[in-house]
Amino acid sequence: MLKHVHDENSAPNQRDDATPTDPNTFLAEGIPGAEPPLEQKGAHEGHRHTTAAGLYAVYETAHFGFKEMGVKRTFQTLLKVNQKDGFDCPSCAWPDPDGKRKVAEFCENGAKAVAFEATRKRLTPEVFARHSISEMLNEHDTWLDGLGRITHPMARRKGDDHYQPISWDDAFQMIGRELRALDSPDEAAFYTSGRASNEAAFLYGLFARQFGTNNLPDCSNMCHESSGTGLTESIGIGKATVRIEDFEHADAIFVIGQNPGTNHPRMLTELQKAARNGCKIVSVNPLVEPGLMKFQNPQEPVHCLLPGTPMACLFLPVRINGDVAVLKGIMKEMLEEDDRTGGKVLAHDFIEHDTQGFADFAADLRNESWDRIVKHSGLSRELIREAAQIVIKSERMICTWAMGITQHRNGVGNVQTIVNFALLRGNIGRRGAGLCPVRGHSNVQGDRTVGIWEKMSPQFMTALGEEFSFTPPDKHGFDAVRSIEAMHQRRVKVFIGLGGNFLSATPDTSYTSEALARCKLTVQISTKLNRGHLITGEQSLILPCLGRTEKDFQKSGWQFVTVEDTTCVVHMSRGVLEPASEHLRSEPAIVAGIARATLQDRTTVDWVGLIENYDRIREHIEHVVPGFTQYNVRVRQPGGFYLPNPPHDGKFNTPSKRAGFVVHPIPELPVAGGRLLLMTIRSHDQFNTTIYSENDRYRGIFNGRRVVFLNTEDISRLGLQKYEWVDLISHYESETRRAERFKVVPYQIPVGCAAAYYPETNVLVPLRNTADGSNQPASKSLVISIERTKTAIG
Ligand code: SF4
Repeated sequence: MLKHVHDENSAPNQRDDATPTDPNTFLAEGIPGAEPPLEQKGAHEGHRHTTAAGLYAVYETAHFGFKEMGVKRTFQTLLKVNQKDGFDCPSCAWPDPDGKRKVAEFCENGAKAVAFEATRKRLTPEVFARHSISEMLNEHDTWLDGLGRITHPMARRKGDDHYQPISWDDAFQMIGRELRALDSPDEAAFYTSGRASNEAAFLYGLFARQFGTNNLPDCSNMCHESSGTGLTESIGIGKATVRIEDFEHADAIFVIGQNPGTNHPRMLTELQKAARNGCKIVSVNPLVEPGLMKFQNPQEPVHCLLPGTPMACLFLPVRINGDVAVLKGIMKEMLEEDDRTGGKVLAHDFIEHDTQGFADFAADLRNESWDRIVKHSGLSRELIREAAQIVIKSERMICTWAMGITQHRNGVGNVQTIVNFALLRGNIGRRGAGLCPVRGHSNVQGDRTVGIWEKMSPQFMTALGEEFSFTPPDKHGFDAVRSIEAMHQRRVKVFIGLGGNFLSATPDTSYTSEALARCKLTVQISTKLNRGHLITGEQSLILPCLGRTEKDFQKSGWQFVTVEDTTCVVHMSRGVLEPASEHLRSEPAIVAGIARATLQDRTTVDWVGLIENYDRIREHIEHVVPGFTQYNVRVRQPGGFYLPNPPHDGKFNTPSKRAGFVVHPIPELPVAGGRLLLMTIRSHDQFNTTIYSENDRYRGIFNGRRVVFLNTEDISRLGLQKYEWVDLISHYESETRRAERFKVVPYQIPVGCAAAYYPETNVLVPLRNTADGSNQPASKSLVISIERTKTAIG
């Protein structure tokens, strides 16, 4: 199904350690099964919903909820999502209102994420006994999801093609034995998904460091690493500078490389409030997404019967990775108007007192040619001028962005160009103004705050060591990309995943599968089965954990956990449902179990005591991480508390104590004739790697996902036909990678650009094609060619 060509040193397809009965011998040739089976009939086009949410979203929410949870459980659960006394939505990291909350404080996608977890379906040992691993590998992801919640710890022993039940004790002992047998602690990697709570993540990082390694890859490596890197250098913190209330006070909001209607749907509520206040919303994105056209707010049922609220007043359908070009164009217009008006456009006082690097930045801007700006942005000078006028007439501007900005070779440059854009008129540190990288997973930001990073600051490491009387390792560890490389080279032999779907979230699926298969032990701490559980090391464990929706009782009583949203609010989350199985354990308890079995008497941590009462974990976090003063008191206040955020208050913790303008050139990615730039995207019925259905109603695609969106001009230039099956071939240095059978769908997308869903297209993303400075995979600018499909199906 997948084929790729690597350089010889990487020896991608050698499986010299595979035994004849090992299911991973199926991986020997191109790893069939690493991807879901190919579609036979494929997707078809249908009615494209051009108004976001509305009654259809209510219908979808109810339909999905009732199907998975039943009527009573649906109401019991959904009425507690994002409530101050309830649990945090396990989906994206959009913040909740500070003040009073509505009865239904969730979106369609949040409801689906909750139903996905709170489903009544159960994946018992009997089901595992009926289906071998190799059989399950031949099923679609939605089939795997449909098996329901995993009820027991399961083990796949060497040479076996089935998962079989294992006791918790034996599972912990197996992990402890394998970890202790390693030649070095750096031969293990500890991955964290953004669902893990602050408490689980803090313990996990502590355990890894007591074990002796900083190999702590996380999903942030794949989504906002470029934001963290760029922002920290420019403004001294790698997080948003705005609060949710700022959206109501903004005069202009630039939504750049982001599709909030699908990926952060409740952001539309804030954008709607802003639009009603007269705020100008500008969308900078290759695809014109319905979420920013019109919005019917399901929290206003009567309004759902009327035409939706018009959202963006200006769409800038930029070429893929043309963001630096368009932003430079807008800023050049601003600079020229400032010259014409005698300094009335730029915030000269702010620039002089609070920033550095303006002179070089302005000189670069003046030297930039309009021809290059227009060519690389793909936009007319008139459109750019129109956007500039919106900024010039706005007192307060917010810029939001997501992975359309970060997942490029120049992702850090993209982020810092947005910062430059905001600094020009002093749009940081004032009400209604600021920067907002919108995080895609509910606690991905909090996990990083409490220590999940391969290169935490020396201050953090010192505080951690002092708190627990040990010396943490000072050598930086592996991020996600480097962990995959190390597993592939057998330098990492044990992989533990605290949640998530590492296989499908990471690039180069084929290579990553080989990497995982080369481990001696892979461990997945999960609620549900995904493809990543089926590409295993020599031995593998699935450790089933409690979900966010479920009650967590420990010795001292009913526990809650805490999370941090995109705007730095830390708040509590307490599940309300009975656990899916009596055999489940909480994530903190599982981490503690692994730690005790591994570290034995060489630990300085009272793991048992910490699990008895999570307040004790939070006390330690308070001592180690700045900003958590009186953590246990403040987090019990309804809605939680804000972590310190100096740029929000107009202060910059950079070495110079000023925000920095950083000059970045317009990126030029050579695309040979006949080739295109491909970006990976998500469908509406998808949350990260989880596929709820094969539909994407906002783009009018139904019953399939293997489609490639192309401009009609490119379709005819390449001699293709609408709905024809094609293969996508990516080109990186001397390597090619192929993903087969995608249907050609004509779409409103700039000429020379293409879009297709991930994770199906992850096979095309070269592992080494990463952002300069952040090492984040560049999944949004892949050079591809297109060939007619030759492979017959069925
Ligand atoms: S916007 Fe995000 S956090 Fe809020 S309910 Fe929707 S998916 Fe959940």
